Amino acid sequence: MNDIKLALLGSEGAGKSAVLVRFLTKRFIGEYASNTNSLYHKRLSIDGRQLNLEVFDPCSQSEESRCILEEPLDWADGFVVVYTISDRTSFLNAKNILAQIKESRRETCKGEVPICLVGNKQDLCHSRQVSEEEGRSLAQENKCLFQEVSAAENYLEISNLFTKLIRHVMEQ
Ligand code: GDP
Repeated sequence: MNDIKLALLGSEGAGKSAVLVRFLTKRFIGEYASNTNSLYHKRLSIDGRQLNLEVFDPCSQSEESRCILEEPLDWADGFVVVYTISDRTSFLNAKNILAQIKESRRETCKGEVPICLVGNKQDLCHSRQVSEEEGRSLAQENKCLFQEVSAAENYLEISNLFTKLIRHVMEQ
């Protein structure tokens, strides 16, 4: 497979765009104003294979706009589900999103789907509301990759995470 499609999902403000922009540009964009769905393209080489990566970053997944989820659920080969470690509501939302991904794949019989659960804003650990253990357990229950990161401070962990997820998609 040379085309890889990923979708970022999570509560508004969880840091989806910040995580993605960090991965794509190595930079932290503090205020990233986007009120539209965005599709990013990047050419990558992983394990000697040339890949066309497309990443869908929807503008919001607030409770009232669950329909936004339907499009990426059908379209993506893999998912990055982001919550904020200092916001319990975003963690509960990530839990719901994981359930929706599983449910949609069950209906379409597409089998196991590569997902990475990301606990973002690790730099705000002084106001942590979700323990690392809770994140790890949720990921294990859903057979996802898991990592706590800070889009504000780290590039390497975020890059490694995307690479692992892409490898997982390539193995499918
Ligand atoms: P999205 O709605 O999920 O795409 O969230 P954004 O990427 O727009 O980020 C929402 C807010 O959180 C912005 O003000 C970002 O600057 C901030 N933010 C994102 N990632 C981090 C992080 O790792 N640490 C801190 N302290 N702030 C972050």
